[in-house]
Amino acid sequence: MRIFIRIILGIVSLAVLALGIFLVPPHLQTQGIEPDLPNEQALRDLMAEEDGPIAVRYVLSASQDVRGRQLAHTTFLVEWANGNLFAIDAGMDENGAAEFADLMRGISGGGDAQFFGTLGKQLGPELQRVKGIGFTHLHIDHTQGITAFCADRGTGTDLLQSNDQRDEHNFNTVEGAELVAKSCLSRGALGGREILTNDAFPGLGLIPLGGHTPGSTLFAVGLKDHLWLFSGDTTNTKTDLVNNRGKGFLYSGVFVPENTGRTEDLRLWLTGLDTNADVDVVVSHDLEALLATGMPKFGE
Ligand SMILES: [Zn+2]
Repeated sequence: MRIFIRIILGIVSLAVLALGIFLVPPHLQTQGIEPDLPNEQALRDLMAEEDGPIAVRYVLSASQDVRGRQLAHTTFLVEWANGNLFAIDAGMDENGAAEFADLMRGISGGGDAQFFGTLGKQLGPELQRVKGIGFTHLHIDHTQGITAFCADRGTGTDLLQSNDQRDEHNFNTVEGAELVAKSCLSRGALGGREILTNDAFPGLGLIPLGGHTPGSTLFAVGLKDHLWLFSGDTTNTKTDLVNNRGKGFLYSGVFVPENTGRTEDLRLWLTGLDTNADVDVVVSHDLEALLATGMPKFGE
């Protein structure tokens, strides 16, 4: 019996050791990505852009009840007076949403996915107005919908993406990175340093963040009277953001290798900005907090 217990302990130790070794490179990688952040005035300068965006609306592609709250899969559409739209994240198609809901159920419980339609389905002919797209990060729940998007849209959409997001991947961003790389998108040019911009989309800024994934990016949208900051999955809920709560060891250490020092810095930075009456930080998956901002839904 004793020898049996020893063998089991030996196998468990080896498995833990192997997992540890597997996780070292992605942690070292993400620890090394901490780009400088812009100050508040630089963000507010986006609001002063001539011909800046005139509206932001959301599209809900799917949601899942997880312990009484709605885990939402959202796309945000930025609109300009010339009719152009820019999409932030692509959501998922119906199969993707069902598979992701299964995965979530395995990790933390939760109900079936509710699916409301791909971007093509929900936008109809307006899909042709989407001239640009960007991803808060390359996890599959933000990127998988790009395949359906391309099938409906064809060419003509520019991808705005930081170099880190294009080049730095780990075991749970490679799949999304591949989908994006082989998609219908062509990469648009970006200028600037802390805030990356593209002339075709004045008032829109990309701020490389790191933290959650190596390529995590904040999208800042400067309307004339309101600054929207799309923080992706830096936190999973708005409450965690404003209360400076991390995601716990299993999530940040094992499932999603995060730079936790960085995500804490980002929580504090974003909470500070969010205290302004004319600034809203929007957390990708938090439907309740999104609805509380009063952002209109596309088509309503
Ligand atoms: Zn996500």
